[in-house]
Amino acid sequence: MTTVLGCIADDFTGATDIAGLLARSGVKVSLRIGVPDSAPEDTAAFEVIALKSRTAPVAGAVAETRAALRWLRDAGAGRFFWKYCSTFDSTPEGNIGPVAEALMADLGVDQTIYCPAFPENGRSIFMGNLFVGRQPLAESPMKDHPLTPMRDSNLMRLLAPQVTRPVGLVDRLTVAQGAGALRARLAGLRGEGVAHVVVDAVANEDLEVIAEACRDMVLMTGGSAVAMPLPGLYLRDGVLAADAARGAVPELGAGAVVLSGSCSAMTRAQVAAYLAQGAPGYRLDPLALAKDGPQGALDWLAAQDPARAPLIYATAEPDNVRAAQDRLGVAAAGEIVEATLAACAVAARDAGARRFVVAGGESSGAVTQALGVSRLDIGAEIAPGVPWTFCRSDGADIALALKSGNFGTEDFFADALAGLEAM
Ligand code: ADP
Repeated sequence: MTTVLGCIADDFTGATDIAGLLARSGVKVSLRIGVPDSAPEDTAAFEVIALKSRTAPVAGAVAETRAALRWLRDAGAGRFFWKYCSTFDSTPEGNIGPVAEALMADLGVDQTIYCPAFPENGRSIFMGNLFVGRQPLAESPMKDHPLTPMRDSNLMRLLAPQVTRPVGLVDRLTVAQGAGALRARLAGLRGEGVAHVVVDAVANEDLEVIAEACRDMVLMTGGSAVAMPLPGLYLRDGVLAADAARGAVPELGAGAVVLSGSCSAMTRAQVAAYLAQGAPGYRLDPLALAKDGPQGALDWLAAQDPARAPLIYATAEPDNVRAAQDRLGVAAAGEIVEATLAACAVAARDAGARRFVVAGGESSGAVTQALGVSRLDIGAEIAPGVPWTFCRSDGADIALALKSGNFGTEDFFADALAGLEAM
């Protein structure tokens, strides 16, 4: 199938987020982990490429994004979306602006929009200022982010040092007048040479107006939410064939496993709830793993009935995590847990498990890599931002639910497995 929209995301969970929102429309969406090595084949109407470029040096991020663009153009895409975080995570050195300018140059376009708003998740933009819930971005917890501390809430001021051409704004008063007014304002700004246009949005209706006005732009940029209306608009316009529906759920064996490497508050509640329901569980202790290796976990797993979806978890309270990090170092503690979860995933697959629920962004990356997965087809959403995905691993059809830290509600693990049954 010819690709209609090609999306490039600057991190993995950002890619699953936009892929899940596009798939809400029921059309076929594929997610590729990294730029594929081979030429496009068997492509979907919507292709999403997940990069790991959010905090990479600018030159590397630009080069990787341009490679992704080439692949998507080869897949037939004529429209493109550059997806970054809804809190505009970046430093004055990059990468959102430089990547956008490189994409604009390659595509030969002289204007794009920036709309990281995601009102359902409390991200809104008013007069060019980004809010997280009721707080301006620079007063939100993002001000203390370890890698990308956000100390200004004004998107024009954040963007200007990252780009070479003029930055402007279309504010909410114009967006509220509808798609025609927004288009006219964008044309006016183009006449003034404004290449980079921040667009206000405080509610889903605003995103619909923006998507309607900008659906034919060759390049749009933003968070995932402004892309959500695009499939419906393309279907209406006839750009997307009505038969672009996603495929059926593959036949999957009964075995399942739940792997949790996230220590976020919601994941801790999810692990507790799953164990309280009587699910079999095995706790990974990084200190014991450092001493004895993963064999204990693998032996325990081998003795379980895969039909009961056993849980292996490193999920622990902050004090516990700190104690392990003090002894082993932050990176080493994380790596030893990730390597063990990855080994358990492979062992579970080899023992017949075909449904995998994984908690944790980094943990999900480690598991997908170990399973040799490079392409995921996106299925139905389990919780906002977390779809079931389908892929091949060592010749078998498998299903993966990859959940980053605070996503989902307490019963996520059981709900996810039950939801797959019902599909
Ligand atoms: P989240 O999405 O919640 O941020 P991640 O999987 O991205 O979850 O990150 C959690 C990190 O913490 C991983 O690197 C994981 O290996 C590490 N980790 C998990 N459990 C422990 C623990 N008990 N002690 C130390 N580090 C841990």
